[in-house]
Amino acid sequence: MDFYGGIKRLQEGLASGEWTASDLVGHSLATIETYDAQVKAFLRLDGEGASSKVARVGNNGCAPETYESHETVHPTRSPLAGIPYALKDNLCVTGMETTCASQILRGYIPPYSATVVERLERSGGVLMGKLNLDEFAMGSSTENSSYFVTRNPWDLSRVPGGSSGGSAAAVAAGMVPYTLGSDTGGSIRQPAAFCGVVGLKPTYGLVSRYGLVAFASSLDQVGPLTHSVEDAATVLQVIAGFDERDSTSVKVDIPDYTAALTGDIRGLRVGIPMEYFDTGMEEGVRRSVEQAIATLRELGAQIKEISLPMTRYALSAYYLIAPAEASSNLARYDGVRYGYRATDPANLLDMYKKTRSEGFGPEVKRRILIGTYALSSGYYDAYYKRAQQVRTLIARDFAAAFAEVDVIVSPTTPTTAFAIGEKTDPLTMYLNDIYTIPVNLAGLPAISVPCGLVDGLPVGLQMIGRSFDESTLLKTAHAYEQAAGFSSLRPTLVKEVR
Ligand code: GLN
Repeated sequence: MDFYGGIKRLQEGLASGEWTASDLVGHSLATIETYDAQVKAFLRLDGEGASSKVARVGNNGCAPETYESHETVHPTRSPLAGIPYALKDNLCVTGMETTCASQILRGYIPPYSATVVERLERSGGVLMGKLNLDEFAMGSSTENSSYFVTRNPWDLSRVPGGSSGGSAAAVAAGMVPYTLGSDTGGSIRQPAAFCGVVGLKPTYGLVSRYGLVAFASSLDQVGPLTHSVEDAATVLQVIAGFDERDSTSVKVDIPDYTAALTGDIRGLRVGIPMEYFDTGMEEGVRRSVEQAIATLRELGAQIKEISLPMTRYALSAYYLIAPAEASSNLARYDGVRYGYRATDPANLLDMYKKTRSEGFGPEVKRRILIGTYALSSGYYDAYYKRAQQVRTLIARDFAAAFAEVDVIVSPTTPTTAFAIGEKTDPLTMYLNDIYTIPVNLAGLPAISVPCGLVDGLPVGLQMIGRSFDESTLLKTAHAYEQAAGFSSLRPTLVKEVR
């Protein structure tokens, strides 16, 4: 048994008695034991919690309490019952330390669980532990974690991407069948691309942010990292849906996402944004993406060149808006309410200052400084307001494009996974997100699926959909995946674990 065959196969095995839910937990623990000393995806393991969950859901994942899945799941047994998973450590779980890979939250034990976590729990999911990330999800390599660096299972000298690097590496190394990550500017899709797995960022408002530690609230979304598009649809089915505890959650009907995976995309209009192809893309990435576009054409899609002229301003707008929101969101870490407090301060102000100086790492401090500056009176209009205006123009670009096409296709990242320590200058790191950031600014759904290997490293294909049209997006990604056969790739590091 392994986790590369997907969630449905694991369920079939549970139903037929080929294996039990305890076997799945055992396999997850054994794989983590074998590879995580090198990969370092997990910040925290909870083997005991996983076993007690199995005791509750029953060894075939079928105990009665797992039937009470929430309203958006069909009133049958949940497809996630008895299946192990793990969470990026910026999602709160009652009673389990949540650090955001920051020293300032060391020892913080949330008194509540994120809505997405509650939904997975109620569906009978088996939580294995918490995964590494860039501190407060700020970064593209997981090198900004204040605990340790996570490595790419395809090449241990390279980064897994970020900020959901732990979430992508754990799936790629076969430690769990799926994980959740968060995506503010690409943090699900970019690590998925670097690690050769599927990563889905849902439409802003589709998945609740309640209990996701806020980075940039108008951009953050939670989504799954999986081995296949079908698995992404299965997980989305459970986590999507209105939540009154998140004021930006949208009331929409949740369709049956797996039913959309027909494999038939004849006549679908696929847009190729020319601006995405004139930037510094690696030759191997370009070839893989061109090959993928050819595959879509063979499947009967109509390929059209489109223009998204405001793309060139997206990074600048993002690096004002995201830090501005971060500076406000991170003001709450003052040594009074959460986690770390500096010792022996001279007075209250000194306590704030010391706590924040000692508790936050360099990238987080940089963002707080940029954000505070951009929001200060006198600069607000020139920076923050301007960036918001650009954001509107970017959203309009996409709206105009979606009048002509149904899905937009591009690379997920300009390069394959880079070496640990290679990008020392923050600006070169920021450039990595050039294709993913516009999507967050516009609030659209997008997915990264593997589209080939270049020099033994995975390449990701990004597909972008219309707001709340995850069905078309997943259908397209699934049809491509079935035709191209790049899903469920196993990194060379990973041999079968028994
Ligand atoms: N890499 C981007 C940043 O550093 C995006 C991060 C994210 O999506 N959380 O802000």
